[in-house]
Amino acid sequence: MTRVPARSLAAKLLDWYGAHHRDLPWRRTRDPYRIWVSEIMLQQTRAEAAIPYYQRFLDRFPSVAALAAASAEEVLASWSGLGYYSRARNMHQAARVMDGVFPRSYQAIRDLPGVGDYTAAAIASIAFGLPYAVLDGNVMRVVARLTNDAADIGASRTRARFRAIAQHHLDGLDRRRAGAFNQAMMELGATVCLPRSPRCGICPLAEMCAARRAGRQAQLPVKLPATAPVKIAMEVAIIERRGRLLLWQRDADARRLGGFWELPSPEQLPELGALPAIGTFRHTITHHRYQVTVRSGSLARQARVARPLRWVPIETLPSLPLSTTARKALRLGQKTEVRRRSPQEPF
Ligand code: SF4
Repeated sequence: MTRVPARSLAAKLLDWYGAHHRDLPWRRTRDPYRIWVSEIMLQQTRAEAAIPYYQRFLDRFPSVAALAAASAEEVLASWSGLGYYSRARNMHQAARVMDGVFPRSYQAIRDLPGVGDYTAAAIASIAFGLPYAVLDGNVMRVVARLTNDAADIGASRTRARFRAIAQHHLDGLDRRRAGAFNQAMMELGATVCLPRSPRCGICPLAEMCAARRAGRQAQLPVKLPATAPVKIAMEVAIIERRGRLLLWQRDADARRLGGFWELPSPEQLPELGALPAIGTFRHTITHHRYQVTVRSGSLARQARVARPLRWVPIETLPSLPLSTTARKALRLGQKTEVRRRSPQEPF
């Protein structure tokens, strides 16, 4: 592992960031609430994909107080489509404990529900200029390559070492630049030091990069295989009757997707297996790979529809928190319907 001089690295990186960073909406503010919303969204969503959700969420909940005053159902509906809904639930809970005022210290931010080391460091440095280095996947990749370190980044001691290296580079800076330094490291990883094809030819740190000198960029960082993927086949049905759709809602305190609405499955409706399949799609949650078959049709009049299944008016769907699986199935159903009709006819 090679040591890189802190001052020259940070100066080059900040110069580059000043000239080349992407103009993203959360970079035009130092409001901790807005930065918090963006950081939570960006935990599992790409920046470009997060932008419309970010803007819609802030239009609907422009402040901590507005978020705290909303119902859980409204918050989940605004998050619908972003996935990993525990993020929205935690934000809602955190807004309620803040009592209208966003905390200003690293530890108080870290103590909020749903906030880990990375998010606390990002908010503290960007909103308040506090000197805490962030360590996300992008920063780990940059540090592993700069230092030519082939340790497994899945190991906590590797992450601690990489965090200390990032912190060392941040510590030499004027404290007002802590947020810019963190964002610059992440931006370099997101736009230049890419996972598969690092763009070393345009990298501001190329001269200091040990992996580049050794020709090992493509082999770093090292991540040993985690849990093997588990394949799961499932079926859902789109059943409509006079402008209403058959759905069921998960218990609010269910461990996964509590409060979300789902399409019926064969276990809930024995007649389901007899309906024609209109297509399949894949859906991945952590290491679970779902292969979802979508069926569609109507039920015989005498078919029993028992709780928790309910007929829900279709026009109310946009305001309901629908699971991502249900949304994907409905999109597939919509496409099939469009194909079945004349292509000119609007759905
Ligand atoms: S020189 Fe290449 S491998 Fe090294 S930090 Fe820059 S982009 Fe990444």
